[in-house]
Amino acid sequence: MILPAPIQNLINAFSRLPGIGPKSASRLTFFLLNAPEEISQDLAKALSALKTETTYCQSCFNITIAGREQCEICANPQRDQAVICVVEEPLDVLALERTDGFQGSYHVLHGALSPIEGIGPDDLKIRPLINRLASGTVREVILATNPSMEGDATAMYLSQQLAPFHVRITRLARGLPVGGDLEYADQHTLLRALAGRQEMTN
Ligand SMILES: [Zn+2]
Repeated sequence: MILPAPIQNLINAFSRLPGIGPKSASRLTFFLLNAPEEISQDLAKALSALKTETTYCQSCFNITIAGREQCEICANPQRDQAVICVVEEPLDVLALERTDGFQGSYHVLHGALSPIEGIGPDDLKIRPLINRLASGTVREVILATNPSMEGDATAMYLSQQLAPFHVRITRLARGLPVGGDLEYADQHTLLRALAGRQEMTN
């Protein structure tokens, strides 16, 4: 069966999303086709605003509202800017914020080192992190990259790069599922990992 282009286009667009195969893409498309117009209008509006109305915080590279230089966490005087928790993705910030157990600031790398995928230090927000330490006001850096091969390699690399600054460098405690993703860890596990963080030695 040859589908009209507008339908096939949406199926194709859905198929490019992670975790969505051709079957789910078709199902979603036909759902929208049959649903009240309001549902697809809302989706279209949200999609078009997603990129145009958001930006990266110029300090920590977390996501924030377009037009703002700093995210809410960086701009909050109650948060300890001398403690920086380094994570791979903005969703990891969300996971740690949900624990309610961290009052410092963050730094989002936007990925992890992966020689296999050709991701090197220059592809991540490592230089801006080093610049933050160069300001001399940072006391501790918590390396909260994922407990995976890439996350561990990234933490190791960072601990070497940050060593000259003589700040406390810690890594989240074990107990997080190895190979897992920070964002999927439950709050208690994450809180324990944060509380039990250990010094990183090169
Ligand atoms: Zn920020």
